[in-house]
Amino acid sequence: MSVWLQELIRFFFPADCISCQTRLPPDERWLCKRCQSRLILAETDLRGEVAQAEALDGVYSGYFYEEILQSAIHHFKYSRALSLARIFANRLAEVMRSEKGLVGASLLVPLPLHPIKKRTRGFNQAALVAAELSHLTGIELDEDCVVRVKNNVSQTTMHSASERILNVTNIFKVVHPDRLVGKTVVIVDDLITTGATMNECARAVREAGAAHVIALSVGRPLLESNQNTDSSTNSSELEYL
Ligand SMILES: [Zn+2]
Repeated sequence: MSVWLQELIRFFFPADCISCQTRLPPDERWLCKRCQSRLILAETDLRGEVAQAEALDGVYSGYFYEEILQSAIHHFKYSRALSLARIFANRLAEVMRSEKGLVGASLLVPLPLHPIKKRTRGFNQAALVAAELSHLTGIELDEDCVVRVKNNVSQTTMHSASERILNVTNIFKVVHPDRLVGKTVVIVDDLITTGATMNECARAVREAGAAHVIALSVGRPLLESNQNTDSSTNSSELEYL
């Protein structure tokens, strides 16, 4: 079923909020305004709080990853709640306007999915958010200057930091380095957890000639303990790519 048909059906047959289950008014989709307002904002530079960030000049997120955001991201990725991309991008546009570390951003690059995974899912969720963000900010979007050349196993199966780093080593390849030279690149993703995948992508982008590389995700874990220890990440709650 096409996304638009899905949206059309939803318009005529109103649904409930995915988080609080109250009936949504016809002009709202997936997440009610009240639940949107209850999302916990996270806007300061979190670079010091992710385990792998050597290749990143900054790490920013729109929200902390608690129950409402978890439900929203889950529906976004697995129930094709694609209009949530606009809500997420609105928040990321606010972060881009308010954070000094993001001033001067000149290129938005969504974290690439491996082609097999993209085909299975039907879309790259990071690319949908980045496209909306580009529309809102006017910053150029480049979806194909970097590709994912290895379909690595999920980071959730990795037990140690060294395993996670090894699992993502050389999984990205820059295919159009000319588009990155001298740019301040913002890599966009839905979630950042240990930072290993994002950092590996940033390393490739930096090696290709980008001047600065900054991570920007919709969500990040709420608990400090999810970040710096090897085994504390709750794999049932954190959906790695
Ligand atoms: Zn709600």
